[in-house]
Formats: sequence, C-alpha cells, structure tokens
Amino acid sequence: MSEPPTLHSRRTLALRFDIPISKTSEFWSALKEGRFITTKCAKCGNVSFPPQADCPKCMGSDSEWVELGREATLVTYTRVQITPASFSDRDPYVIAIGELSEGLKVLAWLEGAGEVIRPGMKLRVEARTSGEGNPYYVFVPA
Ligand SMILES: [Zn+2]
Repeated sequence: MSEPPTLHSRRTLALRFDIPISKTSEFWSALKEGRFITTKCAKCGNVSFPPQADCPKCMGSDSEWVELGREATLVTYTRVQITPASFSDRDPYVIAIGELSEGLKVLAWLEGAGEVIRPGMKLRVEARTSGEGNPYYVFVPA
C-alpha cells in the first residue's frame, strides 16, 4: 500500500515563551534568592498562590508580599510518562499538588521521590534555577 503524497519537514521546533511578570516580578526576584513569597490582599486579607496582581476574592488591587512556609502535604500527583517534546530531556517526571500549611494548594514538579509516592506524604518547597537562568520551584520529599 502506497502512502499518500506528503511533504516532510525535519526541522526542530523551538518554543519561545516571553511571559510578562511585571506585576509579580517581586515573587521571581525573591525566588532567585531562595525565598518563597506571595501576595496578600490589603483590603480583605486573602492570601493567593500563585501571586495575583488583583485579589481574586474582592478584586482589590492593593496587596502586600508575605512569606510562605515551605512545608506541604501531598494532595495528589501524576507521573508523566509520555512527555511533551519540550520536556523530553526530563522524562518521566512527576507533577504534584501540595497543600501548604496556610491552606494554599501549589502545583509543581515533585523531584527525588523515586517510586514510592503517597498522598499525605510530607513535602518541602525548594527553589531552583533553570538552565536558562530562570527561577522556579519544585517539591521534594521532606
Ligand atoms: Zn481581597
């Protein structure tokens, strides 16, 4: 059986993301220094994560930065076996949702947990720097 006529391209697709962070740049600067902070609404006191320029509860635009604890409890996770091409050098990897002691839920990669991962296990948030020099955060077993 013959294949239908097809144009083949073997170019490597590079993805470029320019993510505006002007309203949350404080978070990224702090993360570079290994600190984990987020926004607290000056009007209603709501603490958000990820940090928000405007309060999702009362829509207020005045916020202050508060330090977050590093301890978390694993709520759920998924092991990504078939990774997107842009993460093929990291496969497989684990994405987790952890709940901080403040009650905030955080989505992040879970590193160093091996094969034994159980909801309820204690995690810690750690700051990392990507190969491109961008700060990011991961969970590690506590
Ligand atoms: Zn508010």
